[in-house]
Amino acid sequence: MPIVAIDGPAGAGKSTIARALAKRLGLQYLDTGAMYRAVTAEALRKGLRLDDSDAVGSLAGECALHVGLDLVTIDGRDVTAEIRTSEVTAAVSVVAALSSVRTEMRRRQREWGDARGGGVIEGRDIGTVVFPDAALKVFLTASPRVRAERRVAQAGGDVEQVEASIAERDRLDSTRPDSPLAESSDSVVVDTSHSTIDEVVERIIALLGERT
Ligand code: C5P
Repeated sequence: MPIVAIDGPAGAGKSTIARALAKRLGLQYLDTGAMYRAVTAEALRKGLRLDDSDAVGSLAGECALHVGLDLVTIDGRDVTAEIRTSEVTAAVSVVAALSSVRTEMRRRQREWGDARGGGVIEGRDIGTVVFPDAALKVFLTASPRVRAERRVAQAGGDVEQVEASIAERDRLDSTRPDSPLAESSDSVVVDTSHSTIDEVVERIIALLGERT
């Protein structure tokens, strides 16, 4: 079974598309952003300094982390809702910049893919670093304004403010030294600004058909 890597900036529609794609292909789906978010939620709860590489890295290495379709737990605690709060969203890129944390998350992501022999995996560095041999690498994007409007439609808020916070998260994610958000030389860029979910899913299925 193939690995399909779906990377891209915040709010490009990765989760919606990746979930729908996995369902259509009968593959399992992994949201790697939820993994970084869960570690961030737990670090905040424990009162750790978020840039403390040793402390947050130990937490990332030692925790029991479960990321399922509709349930996320860390050390048995249900954090499904908590990881989507603005507090976690504002903090996650700091935690995700730590190499100590990324090494642990990458190890778990590769284990997940190897155990299943494939799947649809979404994130920032899946095609570039975690699964460089993925059968298909898609870099999903959309204009900053469209991405902000989609977030506001889902979760409310002010479009200008949401656009600014998305831009800041993208800046942090794409400038960190360890596995930054970036297109892979062999990824297919799909702009979702003017497409429906179904159109994007069909396009990706066609691309996968060409490659496998
Ligand atoms: O995808 P989502 O917006 O939930 O990701 C939250 C954050 O997790 C990103 O802004 C990024 O800092 C981090 N992340 C990452 N690498 C991944 C997935 C997410 O650094 N593969």
